[in-house]
Amino acid sequence: MTFAIQVEHLQKRYGEHFAVKGISFNVEQGALFAFLGANGAGKSTTIEILCTLLQKTSGKVSINGYTLDEKANNAEIRKSIGVVFQQSLLDERLTVRENIIHRGKTYGLSKEQLAENYQFVSSYLHLEDIEQRKYGTLSGGQKRRADIARALIHRPQILFLDEPTTGLDPQTRQFVWQTIKQLQAETNMTVFLTTHYMEEAACAHQVIVLKQGRIVAEGTPDFLKTTYAYDQMALVFHDRGLGIKWLEDNALSFTEKQGIFSVRVDSTLHALTLLKKIESHLASFEVIKGTMDDVFIHIMAQGDVTDGSDD
Ligand code: ATP
Repeated sequence: MTFAIQVEHLQKRYGEHFAVKGISFNVEQGALFAFLGANGAGKSTTIEILCTLLQKTSGKVSINGYTLDEKANNAEIRKSIGVVFQQSLLDERLTVRENIIHRGKTYGLSKEQLAENYQFVSSYLHLEDIEQRKYGTLSGGQKRRADIARALIHRPQILFLDEPTTGLDPQTRQFVWQTIKQLQAETNMTVFLTTHYMEEAACAHQVIVLKQGRIVAEGTPDFLKTTYAYDQMALVFHDRGLGIKWLEDNALSFTEKQGIFSVRVDSTLHALTLLKKIESHLASFEVIKGTMDDVFIHIMAQGDVTDGSDD
């Protein structure tokens, strides 16, 4: 297995405060990796360190095989990554095309390579309709497309995205997200992203949840859902009294709200078995799958769970 990113015991201290408290993790090459956490958990601090923009306090980081902070390595790391931060880095007075070409030139790309790469990013990000417009005149969603294109112009091996879809309308969010997934799948590029939208994290290959500078959970979305979320049945009975009796007889714990009974089940298969038994008493039912939202809320509500970090 090849790792695009290796992080060992990473710490970052601001004065007396540790924003990142000795976290360790690896990101497989070509993976879509989601880095989650509530506000202030240390996500941006970690990303900035991995992208060579912020000095770590201690620990070891390797990006695309280069050890961070070893001589000449940070320049190599910067060449091999693309970064999209929450704040844009493009020049408002230049057109989208001028911005992206200018960026490509800073990597020393030949004219032919630059033209080829521009064609590549333009087709992925659908730049045709905005490339001649000044960046400062674009909408939030259009700016985001240009930001991502700029980060990709040198065809990096890893793309870092810090909340790429925050503030976008649902349709634009979906476009940006689909583009990121498509890029990752078709080019085998490693994508490292932070997001507050849990449904985006559900598509990741690997998820890490950070809380107050520590890793409190990690794994695939399926693993996290199985561990921290649960499926539920929402049941409406023809006869409320009989329904309650049946739930109690079967030792099922439940809550009731406006005649709808919520019953926790181990799995959707478990729900099916139960539904077959109670079918004749039911006026309606729904089986609700555990979501990444549930995972996040559960993890945030409890203390440290699986601590992959150390101080
Ligand atoms: P958000 O989701 O709000 O972007 P985050 O998970 O990215 O949050 P960070 O921005 O990395 O969190 O901040 C982690 C902690 O470090 C916070 O307590 C923050 O106040 C603190 N912090 C960040 N930057 C600095 C700084 N330059 N000086 C002092 N403390 C800082």
